[in-house]
Amino acid sequence: MIDVCDIQVMKPLLAEHGFHFSKAKGQNFLTQKWVPESIALEAGVDETAGVLEIGPGIGPLTQQLCLRAGKVCAVELDQRLEPILKQTVGAFPNLEIIWGDVLKLDVPTLVGEKFAGLRPMACANLPYYITTPILTALLEAECFDSVTVMVQKEVAQRIAAQPGTGDYGAFTVFCQYYAEPELLFDVPAHCFLPQPKVTSAVVSLRCRKELPWDIADQTVFFRTVRSSFAMRRKKLSNGLASGFPELGKAGAEEVIAQCGFDANVRGETLSIPEFAKIANAIAARRN
Ligand code: SAM
Repeated sequence: MIDVCDIQVMKPLLAEHGFHFSKAKGQNFLTQKWVPESIALEAGVDETAGVLEIGPGIGPLTQQLCLRAGKVCAVELDQRLEPILKQTVGAFPNLEIIWGDVLKLDVPTLVGEKFAGLRPMACANLPYYITTPILTALLEAECFDSVTVMVQKEVAQRIAAQPGTGDYGAFTVFCQYYAEPELLFDVPAHCFLPQPKVTSAVVSLRCRKELPWDIADQTVFFRTVRSSFAMRRKKLSNGLASGFPELGKAGAEEVIAQCGFDANVRGETLSIPEFAKIANAIAARRN
């Protein structure tokens, strides 16, 4: 197996195919084998797993996944990588490469078709310019056991943040609504070619089998969350009044009091069950 992380191998391989990195496609390729190995190991990939990989690049993580998984489907946007991937991962019988934009995929249908009888999971060194939409699609698909991804460290910290901290925000609540995150390890910039300007980190999201929240209306819940963080330095009543104009300031204050919170409470201190309580009270008033 070609060690695509070895810079002495990678550079001639890329040159042979006249490949130049595309910044617009978020191409930073791994140059340290311990990173893709650790991602595959920490994700618990074994022969019972069907793994969706996003952005295989020249295949360092793909190799580690194919060595362990029952099946791997890798979705890659940049078709210039086809001849390189043929050389680096073409021999794996359990690999299927899907050419196209991951954001245009119907993820639940793909998972149903490709991973029947397997434990579906997603693993990726994500293209950072579309981290949020990709994670949103993977979690909303509600079809994975786990999602293990490399992202910017700052994003990983936001995903795993606790209420009342500066990193806690609407995206934290969204991720923790669907999954339980765990920060795994940092990956310094020198582990990539070209080197990104930021430190990266690998985070694992264990997807909830059943959502444990008692939520009357999911749309109202997420609107409550977004409104609460839209004015994070202000009182929750201001955010709710602006996110739900039909409530008005007085209605927002009533909801907060009815749910047993202090009038000065701020959205950034609320846990998911507390957001649910407020969202349910708003939903009840609207009915
Ligand atoms: N997995 C490789 C590695 O770790 O070295 C490459 C990771 S690189 C950060 C991100 C990869 O995602 C690139 O190969 C890029 O072409 C691909 N990519 C970018 N946008 C994409 C999209 N919308 N759909 C699928 N793949 C995409």
